[in-house]
Amino acid sequence: MKKEIYWSVVSSAIFAFFGAILYFLWLNGKTAIYTDPFEYGLWYLPLSLIVVLLIHETYYYWLHRLMHVPKVYKIVHKVHHQSLSTTPWTAFSFHPWESVLEALILPIILLIIPLNIYVLLIYLIFMTFSSVVNHLDIEIYPLWFRKSTFGKLWIDATHHHYHHKEFTTNYGLYFTFWDKLMGTESSKMEK
Ligand SMILES: [Zn+2]
Ligand SMILES: [Zn+2]
Repeated sequence: MKKEIYWSVVSSAIFAFFGAILYFLWLNGKTAIYTDPFEYGLWYLPLSLIVVLLIHETYYYWLHRLMHVPKVYKIVHKVHHQSLSTTPWTAFSFHPWESVLEALILPIILLIIPLNIYVLLIYLIFMTFSSVVNHLDIEIYPLWFRKSTFGKLWIDATHHHYHHKEFTTNYGLYFTFWDKLMGTESSKMEK
């Protein structure tokens, strides 16, 4: 856990650096971030959140597959997998290269896709919350939810537990669809 806290502090500094770059770009009007929630209509707020979730999911799934290529794994992703049994501190326990690769996508999205500042804030809180929940190693979602159609598409602590145990299954971030499509879902995931 001490190691995890150490790597998390390093990751936080890297994420903050990317945050500072983004803030600088925003101040100079270079991003697609906007402040008036009515600018694109209220319907656009939840839609933009879903679009960002799906783009991030796709980026993360394929980046994660790349990070498990042995040569890349040793340098970039091994630190995260030193936690065989995860704790909430595993959520941001990354090697600096992994932090950089994971942080890259959001500024790129925000240069292109208009996102309300409050939607962005909700997204960042959700992203942090979801990463901690998925590394708890304790299932917090009720069984009825996990057995529902949406629950089967939703990644929980059980799903990510098997990634840390089996290494080559369950690569997803929020949703299971890429794992299902690519046949990388753990056989233990029958719910
Ligand atoms: Zn991994
Ligand atoms: Zn993990």
